[in-house]
Amino acid sequence: MQHEIATQKHEIKQVEQTTCCIVGGGPGGAMLALLLARKGVAVTLLEAHMDFEREFRGDSIHPSVLNILDELGLVDRLLQLQHTEVRKFRFQTVGGEMTLANIDELKLKYPFIALLPQSKFLEFVTTEAKSYPGFHLVMGAQVDELIEENGKVCGVRYRGADGWYEVRAILTVGADGRFSRLRRLAGFEPVASSVPMDVLWFRLPQHLSDGQESGGHIGNGHIAIMLNRFEYWQIGYVIPKGGYQEIRAAGLPALRQTIAELLPLMADRVDYLQEWKQISVLSVESNRLLQWYRPGLLLIGDAAHTMSPVAGVGINYAIQDAVVAANILGDKLKHGSVQLKDLARVQRQRELPTRIIQAFQSFLQNTILTNALSSDKLLTIPPLVRLMLSTPVIRTVPARLMALGPWPAHVK
Ligand SMILES: Cc1cc2nc3c(=O)[nH]c(=O)nc-3n(C[C@H](O)[C@H](O)[C@H](O)COP(=O)(O)OP(=O)(O)OC[C@H]3O[C@@H](n4cnc5c(N)ncnc54)[C@H](O)[C@@H]3O)c2cc1C
Repeated sequence: MQHEIATQKHEIKQVEQTTCCIVGGGPGGAMLALLLARKGVAVTLLEAHMDFEREFRGDSIHPSVLNILDELGLVDRLLQLQHTEVRKFRFQTVGGEMTLANIDELKLKYPFIALLPQSKFLEFVTTEAKSYPGFHLVMGAQVDELIEENGKVCGVRYRGADGWYEVRAILTVGADGRFSRLRRLAGFEPVASSVPMDVLWFRLPQHLSDGQESGGHIGNGHIAIMLNRFEYWQIGYVIPKGGYQEIRAAGLPALRQTIAELLPLMADRVDYLQEWKQISVLSVESNRLLQWYRPGLLLIGDAAHTMSPVAGVGINYAIQDAVVAANILGDKLKHGSVQLKDLARVQRQRELPTRIIQAFQSFLQNTILTNALSSDKLLTIPPLVRLMLSTPVIRTVPARLMALGPWPAHVK
């Protein structure tokens, strides 16, 4: 394995010693920090940005995460924050309506996906973590180097506002997302699966007379989803992989027209889109690491397995990784020693669920999305999918996979 081994070339302003150093204050990192701090483990969470605000970074809190928050006694307070709920995922196609997932049918304690800004969720989790004395959050900490000694990772160096800092730890966790710096520094190369699409995200105004239900629309070679976000609709417009430049070259009026045809409800307000900067492009990727750990280092969440947005499960899976990691490693960290086999256990428990959901996403991509994007004819739902969606027990499988995953994690 090729590693970028850090050389001590900076003047270090301060060296901090902790038990677990987590890089990345996204859902995976923030939740792991909370769970470890709650167990009495000293934990330092390093986040590159100065705040949690980001436009369209994924705002869905799935039933499995609501269950986890329930186990922590936090769910009622979280659900007091302004949110909307998605209970069914229905697609309108030119050939009729298709319910891809009906979470209501599953008889869960929280039978819905809560949509709330991820920034609010992360503020909520880190505020809770701050009530534990061992928790230390550093915002504006851009981690750039791993510290390695005798073949073991024993911390990181980061750039803060006024210089370089060092955090030394028994365990370093890379929860730094799909472009993980730690993954690269550690010499890990993810295995990528092919993905047929990218997604353009933008907002359109919501009117009082609009219905409340989130859903999707497929027709004439285009796909869009509409998510109810209270004051506005969050629109995800799915395009063929790498197709953004072509759409941009065709101009905003052409995009507005396509959206108006695909989503007739939005036809009276597509003029709200006046500048390309109102549109965020998500270059969709799906990949996974063959090994999530090295001595002293564990990767979780998107850093270990970047998720396609199909079924919107990235946050769900990052948080379940955090729960399993805290269950397995919490007590070991408290006693000051984590062995390679403990890190391997985290990967073993989380790898299969991740592979199953990625296979499910590929199945939907290859059977429905590729077909829908490449054809201006009526979308024909493949017979296998039609059979699945109409067979009583089997039709709950997509909803269950989306809502909970194959083996939902529980807080020990
Ligand atoms: C546009 C978009 C829309 C999405 N929509 C959904 C959705 O609706 N539902 C869903 O479940 N998922 C969605 N996702 C995916 C979801 O956001 C991710 O799967 C999920 O956030 C992964 O969590 P994570 O904690 O592993 O990483 P991230 O959420 O990516 O968090 C990583 C954190 O690490 C920080 N960081 C990165 N590098 C460094 C560094 N060197 N030093 C310090 N900090 C660093 C980043 O600033 C970031 O805060 C979407 C993703 C995108 C990009």
